[in-house]
Parts: sequence; C-alpha cells; structure tokens
Amino acid sequence: MKATIVTLPGDGIGPEVMVQALRVLEKIGETYGHKFETVEALIGGAAIDATGSALPDETIQACEGADAVLLAAVGGPKWSDPTSPVRPEQGLLKIRQHFGLFANLRPVKVYPALVDHAPLRRDLLDNVDILFVRELTGGAYFGKRKEMGDDDDAYDTLYYTKAEVERVAHVAFRAAQGRRGKMTSVDKANVLASMRLWRSTVLKVYEDYADVELEHLLVDACTMHLLTRPRDFDVILAGNMFGDILSDEASVLAGSLGMLPSASIGADTFGLYEPVHGSAPDIAGQGKANPIGMFLSLAMLLRYSLNLEDEAKAIETAIDAVLADGLRTADIASKGDNVSGTLEFADAVLAKL
Ligand code: NAD
Repeated sequence: MKATIVTLPGDGIGPEVMVQALRVLEKIGETYGHKFETVEALIGGAAIDATGSALPDETIQACEGADAVLLAAVGGPKWSDPTSPVRPEQGLLKIRQHFGLFANLRPVKVYPALVDHAPLRRDLLDNVDILFVRELTGGAYFGKRKEMGDDDDAYDTLYYTKAEVERVAHVAFRAAQGRRGKMTSVDKANVLASMRLWRSTVLKVYEDYADVELEHLLVDACTMHLLTRPRDFDVILAGNMFGDILSDEASVLAGSLGMLPSASIGADTFGLYEPVHGSAPDIAGQGKANPIGMFLSLAMLLRYSLNLEDEAKAIETAIDAVLADGLRTADIASKGDNVSGTLEFADAVLAKL
C-alpha cells in the first residue's frame, strides 16, 4: 500500500524518539512491501520559534493531505510562561479540534517483564490491560469560559450534547467488542447535570451492544478502583477532563510514562498518534529517552488509520521480545539491569523486526 504520514517531531526528546520511529517505519515498509511517504512539519515550541504560531497553516495543510499524523511531543521551559499569548500546547488543542478528533484512545498495559518496576504489588498488576477512551473535543476544556482578568471570578463550563456523547460511546463499545467485552463508563451523575446526560446517553447507545457488559462508575470511586482492582477493567469511557486525569493516574501502572501510546481519532480513518509523555526537558539531548511510547503510537497508526494489523502486531511483538531479553532504558531499569540509550534500544527493536 501507499500512504502519506505527516511527522511532527516537536520539542525536547520529541525529535530524538521520532527519528527512531522513522527507522521502524522504514523497516516495516521494506519488510511488508509498503511505500510510506513521510512529510515533516512544525508544531509546538519549534514552530513558535520559526513562525510565531504553535500550529502554522503549512502544518495544517500538510496534515490535510495525509492519511495520518505522527506526533512526538511539544513544550519546554523556553515557552512555558503561562501568560504568554502563544504556547506550544495550543498546537495540540488546535490540531485535535481542526480535524474533529473527538476520541482519544490510550491503552495501558503492564508488561510482565516490568511488573516489579511499577509502584503497586505484583499480584495487583498481573495481566492489567486497559483501554481508555476519552472524549477529546468537548467538556470543560472547550466550554464557555471567563478568564479572571481584573475581576475576582473566573469560570469554565462543563457542557456536553447528546451527539458528542453518542459518537464517543460508539467508539468505546466497538472497542470493547474487539477486546474482552466489558465497558466502564465514568461520570459524576450524582452531582452534575451534564453527567446525567452522559449516563443516560451511554445507556441509550448500549441498546446496540447487547454483547458488551456495561458498568457505570462515579469518577471518585473510579480513582480508587483503578489502584485496587485494575485487572477488572477492559475499556474505560470518560469525558475530556475525567479521562485526562484517570488515564494519567493509570499510567503509573505501566511503570513509566515513556511506555504509553495514544491515538486521537474522528469519524473516518484519519488520526493523530502520539506518545502520552511530554518533551521531558530534564533528559532532552542526552540520548536516553524511552522510545517505546513512540513506537507503540506508530503501531496504533498502522492499525487504526492504515488497517495494517500484522504490521502493528510486529512492532508490539518486537518490543515485547526486547524487554523479555532484559534490555531497559533508564526510566524502566532496576538495579543490575542492562541499561541502554534510545539508539541502542531502537537497534534492538529493529533487529527483532
Ligand atoms: P514529561 O512527560 O515531559 O516528563 C515527566 C517525567 O517523565 C520526566 O521526569 C521525564 O524525564 C520522564 N519521561 C517522560 N517521557 C519519557 C521517556 N520517553 N523516556 C524516559 N523518561 C521520560 O512531563 P512534564 O515534565 O510535566 O512536561 C514537560 C513539558 O512537556 C512541558 O512543557 C509540558 O507542557 C509538555 N507536555 C507535552 C505533552 C505532549 O506533547 N503531548 C504532554 C505532557 C506534557
């Protein structure tokens, strides 16, 4: 197959992990006979420095002509003044909104080889495999707001329409059908009107998915259950803000932020794929970033936007094999482990591929 992928390396460790992902992509292309054309474009701090905007028009145009977008990370101390009118993270919100990417998929899996690295007990972590589906373009982050300015008040509005909840609920139910058939919908229906709309809409959508087991959880209870019975969850559906917080909480189960991928998808096959971690300024330029989250994001791109399941699986299996061999980047290393840098880890994955 032929496909065009826009790559957005961004800032900090972003370019370091992106360059390795491109090697993996090239290897997959060679092995399976695909022609992947990649087009690099600017986002985040790098884009602000070059153009004054966190998401220049040329980047949007490049993405419009592509099948999918692979993003590494944006941000860093150089651009972190919260009062600045232009900030790197604006690029992320804008690209999600521009392309109508309303569902954010974040798998959180505990690797057997890393189970002792995570802060919870082994018996709680064995076989944890959760897929978060977070609503991404609505809710409190996009509702009507008022900045404080010179006043004594400020507000953000938590607002959802039935249509917004329906479309993301379909994504979550369909994902559950392809996994272990269980869906947990998270809300705060006991207190918030918008969350009563959430729950009743999810229940309505559920009428199309009799084969899925549905559970409703209040968000406060869910924060506890994620730590006391993480293995019981299959797909977790949540609104924008709750999904943001819960998926970050769950990321500790995997042992390091550097391990986790994500996909942001909309109504068709176009999607934006990025590791969950940020630009890690504390380790940028040192060649020690963990590239796994980036590689797994590439695997999600192949699976969801290009429908290349075998190729996606090949990347995931290669990573499993390298970890099973005992190779670790510093963030997931325990005492006595064989610690590698980004390049060496990527070389090992390529060798397995
Ligand atoms: P971060 O994810 O960049 O780093 C948090 C910690 O995890 C750091 O100690 C870092 O070294 C470590 N870490 C992260 N990714 C790693 C990897 N691949 N390998 C090894 N260690 C890794 O979060 P932060 O420090 O809160 O934010 C730094 C900057 O990144 C900020 O400007 C923030 O706004 C931005 N950010 C961007 C995104 C994104 O691009 N989607 C997400 C989160 C934060």
